[in-house]
Amino acid sequence: MERASTISSQSVSFRFECRRYRLPFRAPMRAANRNWPEREGWIVRLEGENASVGWGEVAPIPEFGTENMEEDAEAIQTLGPTITQAEIESIPGKLTCLRAGLWAAASDGKLRTGLPGFLPVAALLPAGRPALAEVVARAESGFRVFKWKVGVADIGDELGLLDDLLAALPSGSKLRLDANGAWDRRRAERWLERCADRPIEFVEQPVAADSKGAQDLLLGLAADYPTPLALDESLVRAGDAERWLGAGWPGIFVVKISLFGGADRVLGQLAAAKARVVFSSALETAVGARSSLSAAFAWPGVQLALGFGVWPLFADPKFDGPASAPFIRREDVERIDPEAVWNALI
Ligand code: MG
Repeated sequence: MERASTISSQSVSFRFECRRYRLPFRAPMRAANRNWPEREGWIVRLEGENASVGWGEVAPIPEFGTENMEEDAEAIQTLGPTITQAEIESIPGKLTCLRAGLWAAASDGKLRTGLPGFLPVAALLPAGRPALAEVVARAESGFRVFKWKVGVADIGDELGLLDDLLAALPSGSKLRLDANGAWDRRRAERWLERCADRPIEFVEQPVAADSKGAQDLLLGLAADYPTPLALDESLVRAGDAERWLGAGWPGIFVVKISLFGGADRVLGQLAAAKARVVFSSALETAVGARSSLSAAFAWPGVQLALGFGVWPLFADPKFDGPASAPFIRREDVERIDPEAVWNALI
């Protein structure tokens, strides 16, 4: 996404409106750290002085270590009907998702030309045994990168299922695993030993971001095993990406724009370091997804298949992004209509 030239000045002001939402998922999302029936947040509308309208989404996930809905609600109360770029930038770093949503709306603009026509997408598989049937169906519809949530059931059962799942993959496919921080060192080592000679693209967040000595443990695991590791929950607090870059993280960075306060700065740092990134859904509505996908299409470096194989996601399909397919086309992103989502929330 290109920053509109109109916001280069700190004094630029916008008419600010937002609408709160609470949207049930089609089926509860199950991961190691939660069983999640619905999504809550706000759609943000910023109207610039030249009547241009920018859209963003504020969608905190407290389990990721971001602020909660009440903290954002309080801060939103203090914002007047008109806000300036300087006010957006002075929102406290703790309110990561509020900053992210306002940043996205303030920098909303048309995609540049010369960007890729499409980007590959990873299919999201359900946790546990249901993944087996799903992988076959998704492979038939053309997916070749799959993501499976692990750390949900008994480790012996899941390692057995891993073999069945790999056997079911079409040749040339890749499987990524996401433990959502569920493992301790011993379990992470057992998994990584098992992954070493298998076609595992990477293992996401093997141990919890906030566990004691997490940084040393993650760096140690990354050094000791051949399967690449990815940071996800470890990357939401202000300065996280910078700290991991400084520590020489050799693995992958999962980028969820809706959870990054100050995404332009963080993306700049990651691009300068030539980091390998995965742009990924934070299970937002089509509005937040549009911001993330715009950033993904504009990313200058190497990226892996997008973590956007999530739709249909909501019980009401009006809030979904483009239906899951092995590729997302640039036109699919340009076609997302934030105003339709906004109007559906009256
Ligand atoms: Mg993850």
